[in-house]
Amino acid sequence: MTSHDKILKDVLKHMQYFENVGVSSFDTHLEDMPFTIQEELISLEDLEKSQVSPLRMNDKAKQLCELRDYAKSCQKCPLFYTRKHVVFGRGDSKASIMFIGGYPSEMDDFTEIIYGDNKGDLLNRIIRAMKTKLSEFFITTVLKCHPPKGTEPRTEEIKACLPYLTKQIEIVEPRIIVTLGPIAYKALMNEEPKIHTKRENWESYLGTPLISTYDLDEIISKPSVKKGVWQDMKSVVRKYQEIKEKENSQDLF
Ligand code: SF4
Repeated sequence: MTSHDKILKDVLKHMQYFENVGVSSFDTHLEDMPFTIQEELISLEDLEKSQVSPLRMNDKAKQLCELRDYAKSCQKCPLFYTRKHVVFGRGDSKASIMFIGGYPSEMDDFTEIIYGDNKGDLLNRIIRAMKTKLSEFFITTVLKCHPPKGTEPRTEEIKACLPYLTKQIEIVEPRIIVTLGPIAYKALMNEEPKIHTKRENWESYLGTPLISTYDLDEIISKPSVKKGVWQDMKSVVRKYQEIKEKENSQDLF
């Protein structure tokens, strides 16, 4: 078999994998994403298409790249043995709103793209509905490696990986944090979230407003929670507008 045939065989194998898990297309540029989104090159309607041009790198983007490169060889917890890739996150280094989920899926592990599956489609729809620029968002997870099939991350694994997330927050300095599901909330706030009992529940993570809402898997499997999620997202948009107005009025003096 020639090397050309082997490459073709590998490509077909990968395509078969994506087809089997229900993916018809995905963004091949995301992996090289330098954490700088050029909004003028994209529109929210183009979310499913290639969206990033690695032309400019600000200091925050450089720091994120350095952190991502460091994380790529991480062996701080046993998930290192089973992962295919470290899935760092995606979005703009100067994003105002950070979405934080629990851990990468099996497909994210395969593609190295966080939420490159139906969860990403859902998140994209949420972002579209919020009518906020794509460059306002950064999306990541607490765990950067996929736990083996059918297992939930252990406390010590979350503890080992948390410094990557806290560093990401420190670099990006989002104005708002949205935790998706209990793992992210518990990791940052050290207690159980009230997502099943309380909506628009604003708290603070080291001075940054934080709201907790449902895990993307739960939103997909339980349509009844969608109303609550939308209530939370409308609250995020209102809070973001308030913050921007406050910042703009401060700029006048
Ligand atoms: S899950 Fe986090 S701490 Fe564990 S190996 Fe992966 S990057 Fe390192």
